[in-house]
Amino acid sequence: MTYEIKVLKPNVAPCFECNSKDIAFSHYGHPRFNYGGGECRQCGHKTFSAMGINPTDEDAVKIWNAQNSISELIDAQRRTIQASKKRILELQHLQHQRQ
Ligand SMILES: [Zn+2]
Repeated sequence: MTYEIKVLKPNVAPCFECNSKDIAFSHYGHPRFNYGGGECRQCGHKTFSAMGINPTDEDAVKIWNAQNSISELIDAQRRTIQASKKRILELQHLQHQRQ
């Protein structure tokens, strides 16, 4: 059974699709497997993901923000670029060793 989080956190990103801030957060209150996130009440855009044991309301907000906050999406792309640059350097080093 899903329960809805009553208090909206001030750090909630607006919906990526429509920019609404009217987001319904929820997760299963199970002490085992959990699934949670948010749904935009204006356009129906949903962001849900698997959650750890005994999730908190803040965990549901984090799942939502990771896919709806433009600044968090930019940061994620920057981390991907950094990881790719690091991997290229490792591969170039290996290539150099084997020549
Ligand atoms: Zn929306």
